[in-house]
Amino acid sequence: MKEISKEEFEKEVIEGGKVVLDFYSTECPPCEAVAPKFEGLSELYGNDIKFVKMFRQQNKELAEKLGVKSSPTLLFFDNGVQLPKTLNGGIKRSDIIDQLDSMLPAERVKEIKSQLKPIVSEFDVLILGAGPGGLTAGLYLCQSKINTVLIDIALPGGNVATTHEVSNYPGFIDPQPGYMLSHNMSEQTKLCGTVYKVAVDVTKIDLEKKEVVIDEFETIKAKRIIIATGTSPNLMGIAGERELKGKGISYCATCDAKYYGGKEVVVIGGGNSAVEEADFISKFASKITIVHQFDAFTANKQAQEKLFANPIISTLFEHEPRSFVRDGNKIITEIENLKTKEITKLTSDGVFVFIGMKPNIEMFKDKLVLDSWGYVKTDEDMRTSIQGVYAVGDVISKKYRQITTAVADGTIAAIAIAKELD
Ligand SMILES: Cc1cc2nc3c(=O)[nH]c(=O)nc-3n(C[C@H](O)[C@H](O)[C@H](O)COP(=O)(O)OP(=O)(O)OC[C@H]3O[C@@H](n4cnc5c(N)ncnc54)[C@H](O)[C@@H]3O)c2cc1C
Repeated sequence: MKEISKEEFEKEVIEGGKVVLDFYSTECPPCEAVAPKFEGLSELYGNDIKFVKMFRQQNKELAEKLGVKSSPTLLFFDNGVQLPKTLNGGIKRSDIIDQLDSMLPAERVKEIKSQLKPIVSEFDVLILGAGPGGLTAGLYLCQSKINTVLIDIALPGGNVATTHEVSNYPGFIDPQPGYMLSHNMSEQTKLCGTVYKVAVDVTKIDLEKKEVVIDEFETIKAKRIIIATGTSPNLMGIAGERELKGKGISYCATCDAKYYGGKEVVVIGGGNSAVEEADFISKFASKITIVHQFDAFTANKQAQEKLFANPIISTLFEHEPRSFVRDGNKIITEIENLKTKEITKLTSDGVFVFIGMKPNIEMFKDKLVLDSWGYVKTDEDMRTSIQGVYAVGDVISKKYRQITTAVADGTIAAIAIAKELD
């Protein structure tokens, strides 16, 4: 992989024909995640497209001129012209391929793809999901010298990475930003030697055979599998939600609250997530209305007290949203008073939905015994109904879903597996 400096940019990139340029930084986990994908694709597409990389910190001025704001960022050029599509953050191999394919004639793409050789690798343990549960299992297994691979469809961290502040994880006197806590957990496990394959497409999961295919061509076999795929936010399932998802309706305050500086926001929900995230959004928004179906919040008392003391937050208890409609820059949330059945309209700049979570089990739900809410049933050692397959963290059937309980599950599964494999 050729590394270039700003002095070489003109010759290597502008006069270089078809070029993909990776702006990377050091101490950058997403850069480490994309590097092997970039390397592998350069072998496949290298005869048609030139692959080069540039150290962002040393070439800041040029990076800024080209609109690069974070690392890694991939830029694509065709005969001196920068193409509109850029990729950054947790970049998937399939995203790079889509862009490279769009730069070449279809016939040539076919030829290139026919050269792709499947890869098979073997590990003792394969962990699906790099949230607190999976990362802890990876740490314990690695420290037991068990050859372990961690696979995640996103970057490591799970739901903690998008939680603005964590104040109940033991060992820290002050509340920790969620991204820092998950970064530290991830680096600890990686440093120990667990292999990471993150921001990948999980193409196929065969729990019985203990095989997982990623990015369509790489098969990973293992003696044991740990499912640590966690949960994703529930949708309301009402009119207008799907259309406005990501376009005014959000499920992540850490990700999107910053876009609502001085604006009016509706928050839906009444549990800990809704109450704590509303408080966080209030650092940006000028007015927040919480809509909750019951006559009281279910969040803990401390969070509620903070919320009630916040002058910009008001609450509509015993109300439920019925639909969302866009009106210019605004979103109209139609809400029903559950007592009087009266329908009214709330106008806001954005809506945040925090109404609980659902387990991420789509790819294997027919294979495992689940509880009636769809969570994976396990025994006390975290074994599922399939021999050699364990499950840990929020995805399993249990009463309390917290970082500490996910970490505990990961610990138990790893120790049980270590004993079995010994
Ligand atoms: C807004 C919010 C605030 C929270 N605040 C707190 C708090 O203050 N304190 C606390 O203790 N807990 C908090 N929690 C709960 C806490 O985040 C979870 O209990 C914890 O993250 C569970 O860890 P996990 O490893 O089981 O799953 P997750 O953190 O959900 O991680 C699962 C991982 O699996 C990956 N994945 C999903 N599907 C697949 C697949 N098919 N293949 C491979 N990988 C996959 C995901 O990308 C993700 O990285 C909060 C949760 C939310 C949503």
